[in-house]
Amino acid sequence: MASALTDKLSRLVKEMRGQARITESNVQDMLREVRMALLEADVALPVVRDFITRVKDKALGQEVMSSLSPGQVLVSIVNRELAATMGEGVSDINLAAQPPAVILMAGLQGAGKTTTTAKLAKHLIEKRKKKVLTVSSDVYRPAAIEQLKTVTKQAGAEWFPSTSEQKPVDIALAALDYARKHFFDVLLVDTAGRLAIDEALMAEIKALHAVLNPVETLFVVDAMQGQDAINTAKAFKEALPLTGIILTKTDGDSRGGAALSVRQITGAPIKFSGTSEKIDGLEVFDAQRHAGRILG
Ligand code: GDP
Repeated sequence: MASALTDKLSRLVKEMRGQARITESNVQDMLREVRMALLEADVALPVVRDFITRVKDKALGQEVMSSLSPGQVLVSIVNRELAATMGEGVSDINLAAQPPAVILMAGLQGAGKTTTTAKLAKHLIEKRKKKVLTVSSDVYRPAAIEQLKTVTKQAGAEWFPSTSEQKPVDIALAALDYARKHFFDVLLVDTAGRLAIDEALMAEIKALHAVLNPVETLFVVDAMQGQDAINTAKAFKEALPLTGIILTKTDGDSRGGAALSVRQITGAPIKFSGTSEKIDGLEVFDAQRHAGRILG
């Protein structure tokens, strides 16, 4: 699919040569191709509709300079709109807080939260030279707490113990207290996820957010979730003031559309992408490069 859109559009650009204005009728074919390409990239339908409407509004009636064809103008509007939706450049983790800076990890079970928590710990240790503590508030799955312990060790960070007998908020407060007393720069809080959105889960993570006052609240989402990603994103955005997104499992996703969907729904920047199961499989997300990938 990757090169298909660019190819198709340039064909249409040629067909539109000689027309001086972008009109309702000459724009239709092009918008149809853009729409198809976005759907093939697995961008969620409501997001595609919005995108097409914005491009059309910007394009209609626009004067076309003599050196350009309406098709070329339209292609540049599509490019610009995609770039604007994806956001500018790259943005790293914000640590501008009285230490310990707290980072709250949110997302569904299986999205990759625990793995990503450790990847992020490693990133902060190696790239930002920080002293990092991790803790799990997943009291429903003792195995998840153990998993965090294992991967935290691989990351070279310190792990704060928790048990399934404790309450999530108590775990968070104890970890925060420990982090303060031992001069940690960053506390990463891995939270419980469910297989689907539910109210109890949202209430719990809201309570954690309230006591922790995190400087970053990161929504971890599986790139392979495709169309479903927007429902998950909507629910987490309504519950929490998200400050960033980490898109996991991009190594298994050739289509790239989830990025556009979650970005548009949450308005939050995509900060990193997960690129493998390994502890170093985390990359700073380059929005513009990704926009290019969707367009082909
Ligand atoms: P959690 O339930 O949200 O904490 O998810 P986990 O961290 O346990 O991850 C679920 C599965 O996804 C595990 O098998 C991870 O190894 C895998 N995983 C997480 N991130 C990535 C990634 O970026 N790429 C790949 N290929 N696998 C990933």
